[in-house]
Amino acid sequence: MSKEVTYDTTDQVDVIKGHPAEEVVSASANDQTGTAGACVSEELKNANLANSENADILEKYAADYPVGPHDKPQSMCPAFGSLRVGLRMRRVATVLSGSACCVYGLSFVSHFYGARRSVGYVPFDSESLVTGKLFEDIRDSVHDLADPDQYDAIVVTNLCVPTASGVPLRLLPNEINGVRIIGIDVPGFGVPTHAEAKDILAGAMLNFARQEVEAGP
Ligand code: SF4
Repeated sequence: MSKEVTYDTTDQVDVIKGHPAEEVVSASANDQTGTAGACVSEELKNANLANSENADILEKYAADYPVGPHDKPQSMCPAFGSLRVGLRMRRVATVLSGSACCVYGLSFVSHFYGARRSVGYVPFDSESLVTGKLFEDIRDSVHDLADPDQYDAIVVTNLCVPTASGVPLRLLPNEINGVRIIGIDVPGFGVPTHAEAKDILAGAMLNFARQEVEAGP
């Protein structure tokens, strides 16, 4: 007979037990509801597969970056990797296109780390996203921002939702008033860590520089 004294039934509860890793992976693969968390939403991830606008970019990310544990963001928003690099470059403006909550978090952390300059943001709603107005808003914002007295380049970053929705940053003008316009897609579902996000920005800027060198003076 047990000598344990109890006063209620709170000790009689079901204990949630873990599962072997394979079961977790397979359950996650079947999750089409998007309820697993905003940053790892299978719904959002699958949306891009059917999207023809940015599908080639996302296929390249899938080929370049390992999947498995890295198939989901490994830390806070991976886009912070490219954002913080952009914010450290002189005469470079940074504009984000994404959900307001994502931009809030990214700008908060940027300033926590002493960005000392503004993070540009082009907001959207369901209508501007599906009608293509968001792309026009981004184009208008870079035209407004492209002041050669202040900037040499403007980096526009598509976060998860605009990337999955196929907002085509590659259709932005290459330069406005001598200010280079560089668009990159850095979705958390295709770019696993800050390191790869930095690579994407560095690669885009190097590609731009190579084209300028090849074009000659
Ligand atoms: S952009 Fe994507 S990865 Fe970054 S905070 Fe938003 S949902 Fe998460």
